[in-house]
This record gives sequence, C-alpha cells and structure tokens, in this order.
Amino acid sequence: MSQTRTPASHDCDSHASGLLTVDEARQQLLGAMTAIQGIERMPIRQALNRILAQEVKSGMEVPPFANSAMDGYALRGEDIPETGEKILRMIGASFAGKPFAGQLGENECVRIMTGAVMPDGSDTVVMQENVVANDQDIEITCHVRPGENRRDAGDDIRIGDTLLNTGKQLTPADIGLLASTGISEISVYRRLRVAFFSTGDELKPVGGPLAPGEIYDSNRYTLFGMLQRMGVECLDMGVIPDQYDAVYQALQQASDVADVILTSGGVSVGEADFVTEALEQLGKVQFWRVAMKPGKPLAVGTIGTARFFGLPGNPVSAMATFYQFVQPAFYILMGSLPPEPLLLDILSASKLKKSPGRLEYQRGILERNNDGEYQVRATGNQGSHMLTSMSQANCFIILPAECAGVEAGDRVQVQPFAGVT
Ligand code: AMP
Ligand code: MG
Repeated sequence: MSQTRTPASHDCDSHASGLLTVDEARQQLLGAMTAIQGIERMPIRQALNRILAQEVKSGMEVPPFANSAMDGYALRGEDIPETGEKILRMIGASFAGKPFAGQLGENECVRIMTGAVMPDGSDTVVMQENVVANDQDIEITCHVRPGENRRDAGDDIRIGDTLLNTGKQLTPADIGLLASTGISEISVYRRLRVAFFSTGDELKPVGGPLAPGEIYDSNRYTLFGMLQRMGVECLDMGVIPDQYDAVYQALQQASDVADVILTSGGVSVGEADFVTEALEQLGKVQFWRVAMKPGKPLAVGTIGTARFFGLPGNPVSAMATFYQFVQPAFYILMGSLPPEPLLLDILSASKLKKSPGRLEYQRGILERNNDGEYQVRATGNQGSHMLTSMSQANCFIILPAECAGVEAGDRVQVQPFAGVT
C-alpha cells in the first residue's frame, strides 16, 4: 500500500523557496548546543527527573544473598527422587530478615518465605502448594527440579556493574535501582533556568476583561506546562508589549538571569522591526524559515551566555515548534541527549488534506478500531490558532513535505505525544 501520494512535479521543493527542511533545521540547532555547567549533589528522591552527572557503578551484589523466590520449603535437590515422592523432616524456618541459623542435612527441609535466606546446605525450594505438611515433616507430591525457585546472589547486579550512565534522566525505576544498591545521594546537573515571555499588544493575562481586539495570552500557559514537565526552572516574565524599549529591556533582564530565553510571537515576516532590532543589538540571532506547518518562523541565537529561542505566536505553531526543536535542544543543554522520537506506521482512518511543500504536523487521535488495530484520525480543523486541536490530540500525524494528501486507509507516520504535551 502506498504510504502517501506524491505529485509528479517538484515545483514546491523547499530549497527552491529558501526554506530549511525540518531535518536541516534540527541538525543545525542541535549541533550548536552544549550542556550547561554546574553540578549538584542531592538525595536520590530529590533527583527524580534530573539528569545524572556521573556514571554509577554498583558497590554490591543484588540480591546480596541467595534467597527464596517462593513461600515453601528449602531442601537439597539431590534428596528428591525422579518420581517426586518423598517425606522430609522439617528442622526450622527461614523468614525474610530472620534467617535459619542451622545447617540442613540429608532428608531435611526448612520452612522458607519469599526473600528469606537459603539455609546452609539447601539449594532448592519447593512451593508450599506442592507439599502436604504437618509440624514435623512434609510430604512432597510432585516432581522437583533441583535448584528451582532459588534466586542467586548477584543474579540482578554484580559488583562493578554499570547501573546508570551520565546524561540519564532519572526515572522512578532508576532511583529505586540506586536505593537497591545502597546509594543515597547522587550528582546531577543543576536545573536549566528558562526565562519566558509573550510578545504582543493584543495579549492580556487571564483574570481581567478583554478590550476590543484583545485576546488572552495562552502561550505562556502551554509553554509553562511543557517546561514544567521537562523539569526546568521557569521564570515567567509576563506579556511584553510591541515596543522596542520594552522588548530590549525584557531580553536584557532575561539574559542576566537565565540560561535560556524563550519567547513567543513577533518573529513572523512583517512583524514590527523592533524585535529584530532589539535582538541584533543585544546578541546574535538568526530568523529561520523552516518548511513545516504549523510553525514556519523560528528565531535562534544567543544573548550574552544565554541561548535564545523565539517561537511563532500562533498557539499550535508555538507548541509544535517547541516540541520538535526546543525540547530536544533543551535536553542537550540539560546534560542529556534528545530522546529518540517514537514514530509509528499507522492506518489513517481519515482523509487528510495537504498541499506539497512543507512537512506537516497534523494533530491526531491514535486509538484502536473495532478490529483491535491501531488507527489514527485527524482532530478536525487544523488551523494553527486552534488549541482545541492540540487539546484533543494524543499524537502528531507527520506528513512529509512532498505528500499531497492522504486517503482513508493509507498508512501514515504518527508520533505519540510523550512527556511535554
Ligand atoms: P505573531 O507571531 O506575533 O505574529 O502572532 C501570530 C498570531 O498568534 C496572532 O494571531 C497573535 O495574536 C497570536 N498570538 C501571539 N502570541 C500569542 C499568545 N501568547 N497567546 C495566544 N495567541 C498569541
Ligand atoms: Mg505579535
């Protein structure tokens, strides 16, 4: 089945119109990023979601001793005949945290619980369900495989094993893993400080009425949410009006305190020149036109030691551009690597309109159909000002630049939202 329909002519090729492809833009951007300096040591719980700034090797074996995987009876495998029928004398019990102190001899067994130390002399555990027991002895009624239901010392982790590498973002499993080897503190990168503001005379913060021609500032909320999810430190600088002095001052102030300045709005072609002027006065900034929809304009640069990212103002464009470019760049700044995007080949249940020329991130709903197969459908109207399309979606449907539309039943590439949306 054809993936997407391609037009015969290539008159919409992105190079012809001076646009960067998404891949080119991403490569250039990520190639220019390096990790921030600054490491701090902290208790492992506090380090959840932080980026590890050291390699971690284990100083101990896990489990630290051979133990039982079941509630049952510890015995010597060699004592049990092939038939599995045998009576053994019970000489004691081994509980988790309270080992059996003695030595197990021929035709003897010890009551044992999950996680309890294997008594000296035993090598096998028979499940309690396969035994008829009284206070003195047990009768085994089924085949026993020597060595079964025993967990050996170090079968998960051996001394010197590398547990975690530098740059790993610590997950709940990771902090549990650290705890299991007795590590209570760890070195992580300090948090990335991100100052962000919206630009536009039409924007009002929520909480007050709107005058004619005004809209509520939503980008500072979507961006705040995505930044919070990434675990960066957020410095919200509010709405900055479309005035040279105000923008200049905000950028300067942000560059004094933050590692990253993130703005939305004011980077489109035909925007008031003050944004460009202020940026050029304060640092080095390039305006990129990327062949993607939504979100063509993107500004990147530096102001002093701070990195600058200027997102387009349209709410969906700002989110899509953040997700595809800024988020991976932030991972490098934070001392990690961008997570490999999960890209799936999925049946499209919708007909999708598209003109050749720009790569599109349409908003989709990935779900199972009645046959139990995954399919994706578009979230309806795809205007770049329509935040409902992002709110309803759980994935992007990625349509390559040359694609000229998709028929229902074609397969498309889908990128499930993860982490920041
Ligand atoms: P701009 O990129 O400044 O030309 O803005 C493009 C469109 O996005 C315009 O319709 C703006 O009103 C809208 N817009 C810009 N910033 C925001 C914002 N922070 N929240 C909601 N809409 C915005
Ligand atoms: Mg504007």
